Amino acid sequence: MPAVTPLLVAGLVGLFGYGVSLVLFILALRHIGTARTGAYFSTAPFLGAIVSVVFLAEPITGWILVAGLLMGIGVWLHLSERHEHVHAHEEVTHEHLHVHNEHHRHEHESETPIIEPHSHIHTHTKLTHSHPHYPDIHHRHEHQTKKS
Ligand SMILES: [Zn+2]
Ligand SMILES: [Zn+2]
Ligand SMILES: [Zn+2]
Ligand SMILES: [Zn+2]
Ligand SMILES: [Zn+2]
Ligand SMILES: [Zn+2]
Repeated sequence: MPAVTPLLVAGLVGLFGYGVSLVLFILALRHIGTARTGAYFSTAPFLGAIVSVVFLAEPITGWILVAGLLMGIGVWLHLSERHEHVHAHEEVTHEHLHVHNEHHRHEHESETPIIEPHSHIHTHTKLTHSHPHYPDIHHRHEHQTKKS
């Protein structure tokens, strides 16, 4: 049986490394889709390498620099992607964090000032328009490969 302190510290690392990170992973799946979440999540070893160079004085090797550069290019390609076209939103009732914008024109019953963003069950009306989007909970549409 190990001493109490290493046990608690290991538990704390596990809480963040598995518990919190898994919760954030699932939230990200909902907001930015499966492919992007997987790609961002795969940068974790790279972040670990940075931490070990900074805090554990690990040597900076040529391979780390090459791998870091490739990973940086990959993340940049993700972030700089712009996907925009006319698409339809179906009517759907669910709950998530939102601000009142083009997608959220519902009325609020309470007279008190509305603090945004806020979360409550609401209904999206049918809407067809164009704006940049990711494959998240509001964008499940198919993409045709050929132009019709
Ligand atoms: Zn689309
Ligand atoms: Zn909404
Ligand atoms: Zn609202
Ligand atoms: Zn929209
Ligand atoms: Zn949309
Ligand atoms: Zn919604």
